[in-house]
Amino acid sequence: MIDLSSPEPGNAESARCYVIHEQNILIASNPDGWQLPRFPGFVLRQHPAYHFLGLMHDEPCYVCALPDHELDDGSLQPMPLRHLIGGGLDETEFSMISRAMQFLSWQRNHRFCSRCGHPTEPHHRDLAMTCSSCGYFQYPRITPCIITLVTDGEHALLGRSTRFPEGMYSCLAGFMEAGESAEQALAREVREEVGVAVKNLNYLASQSWPFPHSLMLGFHAEYAGGDIVIDDDEIVAADWFHYDDLPMTPPPGSIARNLIDHWIARFK
Ligand SMILES: [Zn+2]
Repeated sequence: MIDLSSPEPGNAESARCYVIHEQNILIASNPDGWQLPRFPGFVLRQHPAYHFLGLMHDEPCYVCALPDHELDDGSLQPMPLRHLIGGGLDETEFSMISRAMQFLSWQRNHRFCSRCGHPTEPHHRDLAMTCSSCGYFQYPRITPCIITLVTDGEHALLGRSTRFPEGMYSCLAGFMEAGESAEQALAREVREEVGVAVKNLNYLASQSWPFPHSLMLGFHAEYAGGDIVIDDDEIVAADWFHYDDLPMTPPPGSIARNLIDHWIARFK
């Protein structure tokens, strides 16, 4: 359970610590698998390079960028966060790491006030950057995206992006435009990417996706007409697949897989 509203505890004996460099997180490998590092809470609390994120299962969590990290004894190694999804990382911890990564990348990109140009500083309590010159507050930017599984009875429409691993297909996704509702964005993205129309949109769930700062809004949608015509700027292939004969899909723990698994469950 994540608690983002409680203040930073002053006496925690142990704290989770996310040490991050770009899209990599440092993990401690051991013969049984991997772990995220823990340090005494009082050490992190007093360290200027660490930022408090909130509580997870009543334990304080902190983030630190790798160049500022002085507590590593050499036992930690970098791992792309994407590799931990489906590799034993639970959804709650993924949410907190997502917060950690987004905070760091946003802090790196907001070193100056966007209103007056003065250098900014982290707020002492909130996850915000503040300007001491004009008083402007900047909170982490979150970019909403829609992701949808388009289905037609026992078949689903899946696409392949150029960025995907070989052989993997997934749901269709895209960024929302200014002024759009999620439903409008969904219909537009599906039409642009594969040329088909959709109806009966149903929201299922959302997921923070820190690559670099998306909020994925997951929908099911039914096919309403049109032939597949792909936009080859965005995807390299798209096709209909029977629920019993799907290609490789994203790992468990991703919202794309969640949408697919929920749909398959209707037939079981
Ligand atoms: Zn300013």
